[in-house]
Amino acid sequence: MGRRATKAEIKADFLAANPRCCFCNGERASAELDHAPARICFRQKQGPEGFVFPSCVQCNRAAAISEQVVAFLIRMMEPTSAYLDDRDIDKLISGLINNTPAALPILNAIAAARIRNELPSGTADSVEERTVIIDPCVHDYVDVFVTKMLYAIRYKVSGEFAGPKHRRWIMWAQVGTSSARYLTGRAEAFFGELQVGQRVNVELGSQFQYRHGFNAAHGYLGLWMQFGEGLMLFSVLGPGQQMATIKGGEFKRYLPMRELGLRVNKRHQGRPWKIVA
Ligand SMILES: [Zn+2]
Repeated sequence: MGRRATKAEIKADFLAANPRCCFCNGERASAELDHAPARICFRQKQGPEGFVFPSCVQCNRAAAISEQVVAFLIRMMEPTSAYLDDRDIDKLISGLINNTPAALPILNAIAAARIRNELPSGTADSVEERTVIIDPCVHDYVDVFVTKMLYAIRYKVSGEFAGPKHRRWIMWAQVGTSSARYLTGRAEAFFGELQVGQRVNVELGSQFQYRHGFNAAHGYLGLWMQFGEGLMLFSVLGPGQQMATIKGGEFKRYLPMRELGLRVNKRHQGRPWKIVA
């Protein structure tokens, strides 16, 4: 009486109340408390409260590399270096070097040399003139990261798992670009159509903003997230039949997190970091 529950007791209670893993359609028993978004996405690993989900060991591990890639991307997309911590960045970079060097930005040696010599550049948007280019493999890692969020939030709002009948649609962009404006428009239109029953706004200072809408009748979930002033993501999870009514979407099939994560890890493992010279 009056005693605070220990960490182990809190974990045991949580797993008892949430006995199946929400990332593999409950195929396996939950064994761990999984933070989504992962804590490495935040400064000093301080994530938002209440974003803890029941996971099996396999699903938890399978997303770890994707979470590293996205944590790095979040920092790279920040417009200022005001909140960047050198040790934190070094840690993320060495993580990527060890696990998936292909996800590091491609260094464009020619463009970098041009800037150093202050030579006139071409159009700002030409790929050749960018000093760093994001490797296409980053899209796969973002897909794993956002899919994990979709499965987690679906479970949070409905108590049900994402499963084989679901399709997902994921878009992301850098804040301030025309792609981000397009994405915001799609998100607003979608939330309008959705007749949002539940709306939750979480703000973690300037680090994380989040909004979701869930339509219980049709089983649609819309999820919009922004990390800092850089990375914006919009995604939808819903039954295949419902998703087919969305125009211009590109839909992916359901996979349990452990399979999706491992598949992506395998695809890009051992590929070297690229320098365009
Ligand atoms: Zn699982």
